Amino acid sequence: MVRYTILVAAILAFLGMYFLRTPQEIQPEGDGSLAVMSNEAGDSAAPDSRTAWIDDERIKNADSEPGNWLAYGRTYEEQRFSPLTQINAGNVSQLGLAWSKDMGTNRAQESTPIVVDGIMYFTSAWSRVYAVDPLTGETLWSYDPKVPGEYGRRACCDVVNRGVAVYQGRVYVGSLDGRLIALDALTGEEIWQVDTIIDRDRFYTVTGAPRVANGKVFIGNGGAEFGVRGYVSAYDADTGEMVWRFFTVPGDPSLPFEQPELAEAAKTWKGGNWWEIGGGGTVWNSIVYDPDFNVVYLGVGNGSPWTRAIRSPGGGDNLFLSSIVAVDADTGELKWHYQTTPGDNWDYTAVQDMALADMEVDGEMKKVLLQAPKNGFFYVLDRENGELLRAHPYATVTWATHVDMETGRPVENPDLDYSEKEKWVLPGPLGGHNWQAMSVDAESGLVFIPVQENPLIYGMAEEFKETGLYKRNPGRWNLGVELGRVVQHFVSNLADWPLPRGYLKAFDPLTGESAWVVEIPHYWNGGVLATAGDLVFQGDALGMFKAYNKQTGELLWEFNTYTSMLAPPITYEIDGTQYVSILTGSGGGDLFGGAPLPPVPNPASLDYNNYGRMLVFKLGGDAPFEAPRARDMTIPEQQLAGLSDPEIAHGERMYHEYCAVCHGLAVRSGGVIPDLRQMDDGTHEAFNQIVLEGILVQNGMSGFGDVLDVEDSELIHHYVRARAHEDREVALGNQPGPRWTWQD
Ligand code: CA
Repeated sequence: MVRYTILVAAILAFLGMYFLRTPQEIQPEGDGSLAVMSNEAGDSAAPDSRTAWIDDERIKNADSEPGNWLAYGRTYEEQRFSPLTQINAGNVSQLGLAWSKDMGTNRAQESTPIVVDGIMYFTSAWSRVYAVDPLTGETLWSYDPKVPGEYGRRACCDVVNRGVAVYQGRVYVGSLDGRLIALDALTGEEIWQVDTIIDRDRFYTVTGAPRVANGKVFIGNGGAEFGVRGYVSAYDADTGEMVWRFFTVPGDPSLPFEQPELAEAAKTWKGGNWWEIGGGGTVWNSIVYDPDFNVVYLGVGNGSPWTRAIRSPGGGDNLFLSSIVAVDADTGELKWHYQTTPGDNWDYTAVQDMALADMEVDGEMKKVLLQAPKNGFFYVLDRENGELLRAHPYATVTWATHVDMETGRPVENPDLDYSEKEKWVLPGPLGGHNWQAMSVDAESGLVFIPVQENPLIYGMAEEFKETGLYKRNPGRWNLGVELGRVVQHFVSNLADWPLPRGYLKAFDPLTGESAWVVEIPHYWNGGVLATAGDLVFQGDALGMFKAYNKQTGELLWEFNTYTSMLAPPITYEIDGTQYVSILTGSGGGDLFGGAPLPPVPNPASLDYNNYGRMLVFKLGGDAPFEAPRARDMTIPEQQLAGLSDPEIAHGERMYHEYCAVCHGLAVRSGGVIPDLRQMDDGTHEAFNQIVLEGILVQNGMSGFGDVLDVEDSELIHHYVRARAHEDREVALGNQPGPRWTWQD
């Protein structure tokens, strides 16, 4: 029997005055204007009100004001569990829409709102920030950091943002182009901004929510797929001055190390020139502050490139890739680390959300850290020293047989070594669990996890297999794996394609058993909220926002939003009424996967549209909701140039290296980014201008003239036409004709 102790909360709440100022209008979607970059630390005048005056004590005592949602995971423990009970298993069938707000975008929504002192703060696509009335959705102010449209191409996984931090009257947001910005929580006026990026020639982006504690703001970044080196920075919350920076992987070993820990870490990288390619280890999602030890835990990402044979040919664990790293919150000094996947070879990030709890383990109370990283094992670590307490699989795992509890290391499955021959592996690079947050119920000891089983056929990059050499290509993914094999499987729909699936699991991390499991026919589903009202909420890929009985997994309520969801729901209570909110709109890391193959059903965002909306529910809510019209999936007739297979195969390769990241594998968009098979005559005519000159950069479609020439663009165009023709023929019931393979 699992027992947790719940932190006893002392009441300390500052009730603020609630001023409304004139809303600041935002720019139209992606205006493409260049933002002014500034490294100036601004002045540090204190805000003129106590509204949104969240401080460390208030977050520590969040359970004394359960009506608010004060921090990313609600509390410092980030359990995403709400004590509210007005909406419960007995009455959730009466849940109805209270209000909705159209975010004016069809890009993915990933934000967790903060609700405090009668204001809801959240972000939308392109790092835009909104302060709204949580009772009506009325905009109080909004802020557009004016991210340049070219950053649409620099982000691996859509122009997303996972939310703000609110602290001492200020709202902090990390912009996609890597700025950390402090806003006045009352007015939305900018107080300061700093540039967090060390090298603008590399494709760094920021999508994660900053965390705040102890007078500091913590922020990481993403970009490992493009070839960057990860680090986390801490800034003075008041002034924006940098306090410390922790690099997660060593740089060029011939240069001095930026921090002493890197000397030891560098010994675990052998041969190769990882610092040229990037190294990886980006901390793009989870950063958790632990007031018990004044420590910040960093969830560190995958290697760059993915394949260790290229990155570190002499072997080695490659610290601190795929690790949970504990650093001193004041100094950034390393306290301990635990590496989930030594020598990562599969894009197995450990950036997934981490929750803290006090838990009885083997008869002893422990302060534990809980994480379900991509690699499929659920880790329970002792926060005091990083000791491994449990590592049960929470999803199907084939890359390793188990985690050896003596050594704390996974035991790899030699049968799935893909260095010579490609192999299907579970989990694939989307992970057994991704950033879509889980929820921890401390009382029952169960964790509610959005699980996915979506394999990849991993194979070494052909270039490396043939020559033993690998060169970083600026401007595109540098994975070191051969995506051509994936494409072949996808297009030809071979029988050996393992079926992807999604699950919602009520998982006991100490025993490795699931109390219940709900299967979802699509793998890419939303984050989870559990409540003391015996409910578990989740939005799924099919557009259904659902409430389950926490004890049994029985479906108690559902609402068809007609839009796929990724964002985690939250709940809050104002004037005696409890609300549940969720943002709709999918995308993120699954843009590359694109439209699924049957029998996996289409996500709602493909069948309808990908409407970015904030939906807020309450008991008896009856606000109007208009179902969108179904999307026209017709593929127009194509003009084919009659090119040879090798020419089209070249276009195919170029397409998958530069375009598929957003437009989808085999030119099958998943419904977020325009489907190129449906281009109209005008778009076909302007194809080279769009691809090379970037005339649609205001939509996030940046030009690729720096890496592609006219011939490349035209061959991509022919390939797109050929794929469109093929799928049109299939849709018309005709034979699609001979298929080419990607071999050059
Ligand atoms: Ca990755």
